[in-house]
Amino acid sequence: MLNLADVRHIYHPPGGEVAALDGVSLSVSRGEMVLVRGPSGCGKSTLLMTIGAMLRPTAGTVRFEDTDLYQLEPHQRAAHRSINIGFVFQLFHLVPYLDAINNVLVGAASTSEDEPRARQLLGDFGLTERIHHRPAEMSIGERQRTALARALVHKPALLLADEPTGNLDPENAELVCNALVDFRSEGGTLIVVSHDGDEFAMADRTIEMRSGRIRDV
Ligand code: ADP
Ligand code: MG
Repeated sequence: MLNLADVRHIYHPPGGEVAALDGVSLSVSRGEMVLVRGPSGCGKSTLLMTIGAMLRPTAGTVRFEDTDLYQLEPHQRAAHRSINIGFVFQLFHLVPYLDAINNVLVGAASTSEDEPRARQLLGDFGLTERIHHRPAEMSIGERQRTALARALVHKPALLLADEPTGNLDPENAELVCNALVDFRSEGGTLIVVSHDGDEFAMADRTIEMRSGRIRDV
């Protein structure tokens, strides 16, 4: 489903260069659950955004099925994201002035199924009472559950989750974990970044990163 060939990403912060991805090659099959681990700063978020068609690599190719993602026009890449990709960001990235239901619907392709499905997901995640609350009016766990509903509402083929339990208490972490396991058991493909691998021991495969590279294990 997914193939990365010798992907590099160089950031240019003031006064230097950071090789966040330094030659990453990786293939993921449909239905697989892959866990990506590694210390802070090793390039995990950069890798996930590159896979998610959000961050053009400096070099190398990213293919989703037969499509070279960064050869697409921007609107085609956006369409690919909104159809195929669900993304749970490390810091949620909810829209502060929208309530939960509209945050879930913000990227959806606006079919008539979206709103009932958004309500259903928010309900599944225990947020029925929070549908009209804005992020500032929700707890951290509620925000992350809203972000998860947003990532799932359009039934993406590939779910990318960047430390989805990183800021959560054990109960919320378990709820998020269970939702990811359900997604996978329904045939979804899943790449999860976590620096604590134990939570995601059910992954089919674990990839260790160090300094922008996949480390042989
Ligand atoms: P991780 O998610 O594993 O903590 P990141 O992918 O966020 O790692 O970052 C990898 C490296 O790239 C780090 O050294 C980080 O400081 C650097 N980095 C990330 N984003 C930027 C940016 N926008 N500009 C400059 N450097 C960045
Ligand atoms: Mg990160």
